[in-house]
This record gives sequence, structure tokens and C-alpha cells, in this order.
Amino acid sequence: MDALIEKKILMGNLFRARFPFLYISTWEEDRALEMIRSIATNAEWIKTPREVITWTVTNGLTGEGITKKDTKAPIQALDYIEKYEKPAIFVLHDFHVYFGEDGRLPDFQIIRKLRDVISSLKQSANPKNVVFISPVLRLPVELEKDITIVDFQLPSAKEIRQSLNEMILVNQEHGRIEMNLDEQGREVLVNAALGLTLAEAENAFARAMVEDGKLSVKDVEVILEEKEQIIKKTGILEFIPSKLKMEDVGGLENLKRWLRKRDKSWLESAREYGLPAPKGVLLTGVPGCGKSLISKAISEMWQLPLLRLDIGKIFSGLVGSSEENMRKALQTAEAIAPAILWIDEIEKGFSGLNTNGDSGTTSRIFGHFLTWMQEKEKPVFVIATANNISALPPEMLRKGRFDEIFFVDLPTHRERVEIFKVHLHKRLQNEEIKGTFQISDYNLNTLAQITEGFVGAEIEQVVIDGLFDAFYENRSVTMKDFEKVCSQLIPLSVTQQEQIKRIRDWANVRAVAATPREDRREYKSNMEECEAGVLSSRGGRTIDF
Ligand code: ATP
Repeated sequence: MDALIEKKILMGNLFRARFPFLYISTWEEDRALEMIRSIATNAEWIKTPREVITWTVTNGLTGEGITKKDTKAPIQALDYIEKYEKPAIFVLHDFHVYFGEDGRLPDFQIIRKLRDVISSLKQSANPKNVVFISPVLRLPVELEKDITIVDFQLPSAKEIRQSLNEMILVNQEHGRIEMNLDEQGREVLVNAALGLTLAEAENAFARAMVEDGKLSVKDVEVILEEKEQIIKKTGILEFIPSKLKMEDVGGLENLKRWLRKRDKSWLESAREYGLPAPKGVLLTGVPGCGKSLISKAISEMWQLPLLRLDIGKIFSGLVGSSEENMRKALQTAEAIAPAILWIDEIEKGFSGLNTNGDSGTTSRIFGHFLTWMQEKEKPVFVIATANNISALPPEMLRKGRFDEIFFVDLPTHRERVEIFKVHLHKRLQNEEIKGTFQISDYNLNTLAQITEGFVGAEIEQVVIDGLFDAFYENRSVTMKDFEKVCSQLIPLSVTQQEQIKRIRDWANVRAVAATPREDRREYKSNMEECEAGVLSSRGGRTIDF
């Protein structure tokens, strides 16, 4: 069923069940009002059709049945609502300003009056409801139990398409644009605008049209640019344009296989096959081993947009209320779906739950996030990374939230070979710099052998520092340059031995190793392959995909 129809039926039920206060947090007042009007007049959804009466501080109550004019003051308006005797839905705009926060105190008189109105709303002979529409969500504690929050989704592809078609029609009638757009082209533009409000989408289309007086599929760039700007303005979500490929990530073959098997799982054909869209993965492990790297590479592999959610900003209080930030971020991700939502260092947001004295805000946001993870139907693949897993609440790790928890350990010999290969190929493209140095199996194995215990980031550092030495002396690089850096670098695995042991112990019970069994072989000094002694002491269970 169409999501909008579903929402209308749900709201119709709430109206019928006499829920006194509903709260819609949105910038799209007109769209929300239009939806309420269509519910209010539809006997099938609401049983008793009712008039929709709006209130703003500038106009007071406005509607056909309103006779009195002096209702600009909220108390007067509420008084009027209390005594009103016909079936009605009252839509009150921007009441959040009376609910406090942002340096303002709540208006206790208005809050009390709202509580007084409840019995009239519930018991009047004719049904009455109140809907608050505000760009921000703010709930006074006194009304928390009486207000029902209604999620108002961003426009669907169907709604955006309708609006685009109308714009094209009007502009063509006036001979203002040259059209070079077939059905498929329209679909591309509409999909690019997903995640925007209707007004934002219309602005983006308008900009695309006026720039050269034409509308073609090439304008997708303009729309994506506009979308990037708008999403950036939220301050919480960020588009990460990633060209990084899976081949740029050395090792972690088990994780890569798991991901590869889920490629195309977003397509209709997968659904027809009876497959649900994957929920997401949690990547934990030793810092600097490629968790962020692989998160970016998934976007390229699956050809899906990558959105980074800054969990720190959600709680920072810098941009709006934390609860609303989370709600809006998830809504935007859903509107853009299919998409990848990357939550870097997730523990930063949800650690110390219930202990930071924020009157339950963190727990509520956490609860909302978990429910969303469990129940989400839109194809938003969550990739969460965490270094300090002990800080994560156990509920997050329970089955049903993430499809799998992967542990990214210190790279094994084979993986170090792969990581060296990636970085040497990347940096040694100039034959003059390369000189006689060969990226041969022998050299790679030697480098891997002398870097046991190095993380990927340190291996990259070895390559860079080796090149620096050669550059300083104005010559080609040699194996000796790299060997020298290796001998001088004290890896993280030495300085943070205890911590690594702790996270490995944790992972042995709860996570799957990102490294497959075959890569967990080590090399003896004479380069013979053998089963690694460290295999058992490494973190993560061996389940090969
Ligand atoms: P942190 O949690 O500290 O951010 P991380 O596990 O997310 O660590 P990355 O940020 O992905 O680590 O790695 C840092 C850099 O190290 C990467 O940009 C990359 O250059 C290099 N690197 C790490 N692991 C790998 C790898 N497996 N293959 C290739 N390069 C790697």
C-alpha cells in the first residue's frame, strides 16, 4: 500500500479514537495541512467528517465555522476550542515556542490550559482533535503522555514526480524551457530529488531549468548538488562522495564476501525471491585496520549513496534537539533509500547510557534508533563502526538489530601483503621514483614479515615515510628505506597490548572475524606457510562466508 495512504489511515484512526493532541514535526506545513484536510473530509477514514480550523499567532483561528476574530492569543484560541461544539480538527502552528527550550522558559499558563482542554476534546458530543504543526519537535513534560507524535515522511517519488510533471507542463506552456527528457530521464531526476521537501525539490528543479533553459537528464548533477547542500545544512547528515573501491582495501576477505553476496539485494528481483533487504553490520576492532575504509568502499561496490551520520552532533545540542535530530536524520536516509547510512564511532553517542543525567534523552533516542533498526522496511543499510565496544549497550548487539557483527583484527601476514600491495601500487606509479624497486612477492613477503603487529594505517605510514627519505635524498626508493622505517616504528599493538587483548577477548564470543580462515596462516622466517600459532589468540569467531 502507498505509504501516504497508510499514514492517512493511521491518522484517521487516531482522530476517530479521540486522541486529543497529535504533533507533526515538519517544515512542510502546506503538505501536512493538505494531508489533514484530505483525512478530515474522508468518511471512510474518519467516520465523522470534520472541518479543519487553523491557528497562527498572526491570524488567530481561521475556518468557516469561526465567527469570533480575537483569537490570536493562544489562551483565547484554546478557550474557543474548548467551547467549540461542531466536529473539528484544530491545526495549531508553531506552538513549540510556548513549550520552552532554546533559552526560553515554557509558558506554564498555556501548558496548563492545554491540559484543561483535554477533557473537552475527549468528551464533547462532537469529535474534536488538536494537531500541532511545527518545524521542531518540543514536548513539555506535563503533556508528554497526552501528545502523540506522528512521523511525517518526506515526499515519495510519486509526489515529487507529480510536482515535476506540473512544473514541466507550466514551463512548456509558456515556452520557457526546451525539454530533452524521456520517461527514464524523469525517473532519474525524481530519484535524485528524494530526501528533499517538496519545496526544496521544486527549487532544485527550477534551478536546473533556469541555468540553461533546458531540462535533460544531465541536470541530475544540479539536483544532486542542491541536495548535498540542503543535507549539509542539517549539520548531522553528510553525503560522502566515495570513489574508493573494494580493491583499495587489503584483506578482510570474509567481510568482503559477506558484502558481495548481498550486492543487488536492493533490487526488486531480490524481493521477489523472498529476500529482505539487509539491515546492516557493526564493525568493531583494532583502530586503524580499515573499518572506515571498507565502509566507504561498500558505496562504490553497491553503487548506493553513502550518508554519514555524525552521532556526536546529534547529542551536542549545537543543532536542534537531540531527539528530533535523530528522527529527521533517519527520515532523510529513508527518503533517499536505497542508501547506506554510515555511523562512525557509534559508541560515542550511546555509551554511558542512563548515567549522564540527561533526564532520559539518550535512552529515548537509543530506543528510537533500535526500534527503527529492527522494524525499518526501507532499504537503508546501516554500517556502524566502533572502537570501544565495551562502551556499547548490550541491547545494540542483540540479534535482529544488525545482521552481523564483524571484528577487524590486526592484519595477518597475507593481509599485510595485500595492504602493502595497495599502498605501494598507489604511490609508486612514477617509474623514476620506483627505480629498481619491485613490488614482487619476495619484497611484499619480506615487508609483511617485518611488520607483524602493524595496523593498516601504520603500513601506509611505512610506505609514505620510506618515500620521504628517498625524496629528501633526491633518489629512487629502495627496500632499505621501508625496512628502516619499520625498525623505528613502535606499533600500536605494542603500546596498547592490553587493550587489544581485551577487545579480542570480547570479540571471541560476540563477533565474526573479518579475516577468513585461509588468511589466518602465518609465514615462518624461511617463508614457508604454516598454521599460525596466533590463530587461536586472534579475535572473532571463524565463520567463513
Ligand atoms: P579508526 O577507528 O581509528 O578510524 P579504522 O579502522 O576506521 O580506524 P581506517 O580509518 O579505515 O581505520 O584506516 C586508516 C587508513 O589506514 C586508511 O585510510 C588506509 O589508508 C589505511 N588502511 C587501514 N587498513 C587498511 C586496509 N585493510 N587496506 C588498505 N589500507 C588500509
